[in-house]
Amino acid sequence: MKSPREIDTMRRSGTITARVLENLILAARPGVSTGDLDALAEHQIRAASGVPTFKGYNGFPCSICTSVNEEVVHGIPGDRLLRDGDLLSIDIGTTFERYVSDSAVTIAIGNVSQTAQRLMRVTQECLMRGVAQMWVGKRLGDIGAAVQEHAEANGYGVVRELVGHGIGTKMHEEPHVPNYGTAGAGMELRSGLVLAVEPMITQSGHEVETLKDGWTVVTADGKLAAHFEHTIAIMEDGPRILTLRQSGEHPDASAYATQEWRAASLSGKGAA
Ligand code: MG
Ligand code: MG
Repeated sequence: MKSPREIDTMRRSGTITARVLENLILAARPGVSTGDLDALAEHQIRAASGVPTFKGYNGFPCSICTSVNEEVVHGIPGDRLLRDGDLLSIDIGTTFERYVSDSAVTIAIGNVSQTAQRLMRVTQECLMRGVAQMWVGKRLGDIGAAVQEHAEANGYGVVRELVGHGIGTKMHEEPHVPNYGTAGAGMELRSGLVLAVEPMITQSGHEVETLKDGWTVVTADGKLAAHFEHTIAIMEDGPRILTLRQSGEHPDASAYATQEWRAASLSGKGAA
């Protein structure tokens, strides 16, 4: 459990993550390489007095993960040029004053198929349905069940091998936060718990494989995948998304930001 002071620092960390991610979303277009996005992310995180959490994490070589099309998560940025019609997942983490924030989105590069658009929309909805469960007295299984139910109702698969997590001074803390589960089961949610919730949803089968680079996770059937993630604090009066962006959010998301955070954020005077 984090103190209010710790959560405030995490909010400031989350503000950096959210702003850099917004800029990456704007920069990602056909002809831009994933390595270009990585360089931009590292520069902007450091310019905001943060440290890119992923760089060097278990030997990961870059500041963000860029996963294209059938790649689910942990893609390594490099020379690959984004092409019209690609689905790009960007995952980013910032450490600021020792506290980590972690967030991810999947976006369309140029014009993508209706199929891809639907997968992105439903995955973002899965995240918000998970967040909506994050009230004191609810249980961990309520989050996973809400995500799984929405994904499967839409005919999609839920990746099992990778899960969300507690987060604080370390990127990955207890507990694990699966994107599947049984409502009413698991650990009780308490005020001060901060979790990274991150549904990884596939177009059909949920099996995944890891490529020979040791990092990139792909769908076993080669179909598309999408990934959305926020860092969220459970407060007495409900969930607070600490990595909320000012644009490109799910319509319900702003309901889960604090008034003061929103005011600071909208006036461009975020605490960071
Ligand atoms: Mg992440
Ligand atoms: Mg994460």
